Amino acid sequence: TSLQEFDLIFFGGTGDLAMRKLLPALYNRFRDSQHTQGWRIIGVARQDMSRDDYLNLVNEHCRQFIPHGEFDAVAWTAFTAHLEYLKLDGLLADDYAELARRLQHSTDRVRVFYLSTAASLFAQICQNLSAAGLVTPQTRVVLEKPLGRDRASSFEINEAVGKIFEERQIFRIDHYLGKETVQNLIALRFGNSIFEPLWRRSNIQDVQITIAETVGVEGRGEYYDRYGALRDMVQNHLLQLLCILAMEPPSSIDPDAVRDEKLKVLRALKPITMDAIKTKTVRGQYRAGAIDGKAVPGYLNEDGIPADSSTETFVAIKAELENWRWSGVPFYLRTGKRMQERVAEIVINFRPVPHAILPVSASEGNRLVIRLQPDEEVMLYLMVKVPGAEMKVRPVDLNLDFKQEFKTRQWDAYERLLMDAILGKLTLFMRRDELDAAWRWIDPIRDGWDALGEPPKGYAAGTWGPTAASTLITRDGFTWREDG
Ligand code: NAD
Repeated sequence: TSLQEFDLIFFGGTGDLAMRKLLPALYNRFRDSQHTQGWRIIGVARQDMSRDDYLNLVNEHCRQFIPHGEFDAVAWTAFTAHLEYLKLDGLLADDYAELARRLQHSTDRVRVFYLSTAASLFAQICQNLSAAGLVTPQTRVVLEKPLGRDRASSFEINEAVGKIFEERQIFRIDHYLGKETVQNLIALRFGNSIFEPLWRRSNIQDVQITIAETVGVEGRGEYYDRYGALRDMVQNHLLQLLCILAMEPPSSIDPDAVRDEKLKVLRALKPITMDAIKTKTVRGQYRAGAIDGKAVPGYLNEDGIPADSSTETFVAIKAELENWRWSGVPFYLRTGKRMQERVAEIVINFRPVPHAILPVSASEGNRLVIRLQPDEEVMLYLMVKVPGAEMKVRPVDLNLDFKQEFKTRQWDAYERLLMDAILGKLTLFMRRDELDAAWRWIDPIRDGWDALGEPPKGYAAGTWGPTAASTLITRDGFTWREDG
């Protein structure tokens, strides 16, 4: 992709996300790109510091997140020469005059405001940008998650941003969509003819989507406790994966063609009503336990967490889609912190053969696994004969190892998404109505839990969650992949 010249302005330029993800991503793109003269990156935050102070901060905090093998001192120096800093309080209209001054000679360039601050500031920042005359037709705004805590607060944020920016200018980030394997899922589904006939209720028995982390709240306790796993992970990442997996083939890869189909999936989600809340959802909270043999405290003993918190750190949900393609196929969603392994994957279990003439155990069969973490890979399990005299079969995977096949370095999700935002490509960003439809399905689950009034179920750190999460799936005669 050829990049035009651009001004990229990071609100929250000193924050954790900027240091850990955004700047390293930009550095990588810078290092690998040929035309970078027109790149201008301005970090914006409230701290009073000089450009040199900022570069020191970046050198100290950001560099460590660039893996050794990817670090090139010459490229790094060249990259940081494009960095600027501006002290600006996003809430103060007067502070924008200096930003306007800096941008006055680049009104026809692509301009990207990346809002990596709390979402509660978004409305005010957008208004101030507009009042300062900084919103040009070539301007885009990137919004970090979480966009609200529920449908109502998300509506408010979107409404405020929507008063200033047109929908085509708004880039709502869900970094899972930037992952190479998620795009490979699109390639797999729509670049091959062999999957489509199988991609339906007649051949697929169940689908499992897991995003398991081994980390706890990592110093972000206060934030996390206000959100919990349902809002922090299910509403966005898990539902986005579900959409890509379950959507009808779009007529093109254009943003609206794809997003129209994703929206239909969200709207087809069967509402989880009060009578189903106990059988279709499980919420958990980790207790003390061990991760890789090392003792870790329980959630309630983490910094910033109230001792009586009922915030969930684990969720499992049986989701169902009410349409012809997927009726009757359960989609089991699961995510948690302090789980046994760090793994993010989509598992598609195909139906067993209709009439077995070979001895195969019930849990074995064709399965497609799309892995996002720890490594990005796609595995298709087929039954093959075990060598020897007997006619014994067992599953063997056809493993598509991207590292092996493509010797090039894989882009980080933020590299893809930042470049797409600069290039104005919206396909991998969430449209407003998608977000709304996701909350519409999530809110009643939350309400159901509140009405139920039960505390989350405890699970030891370093396990796969509460036992109820196993029951959720074994009740239907299936098992989670790692149990099967
Ligand atoms: P952080 O607290 O580390 O950084 C916040 C940044 O915003 C700082 O640079 C701070 O100076 C700046 N800021 C705060 N108030 C401001 C104001 N009034 N005007 C200008 N700048 C102001 O937060 P973070 O972890 O970098 O997260 C930023 C955003 O990204 C949040 O919305 C967060 O939810 C989201 N996010 C973070 C992560 C992560 O891993 N850190 C992951 C996903 C989403």
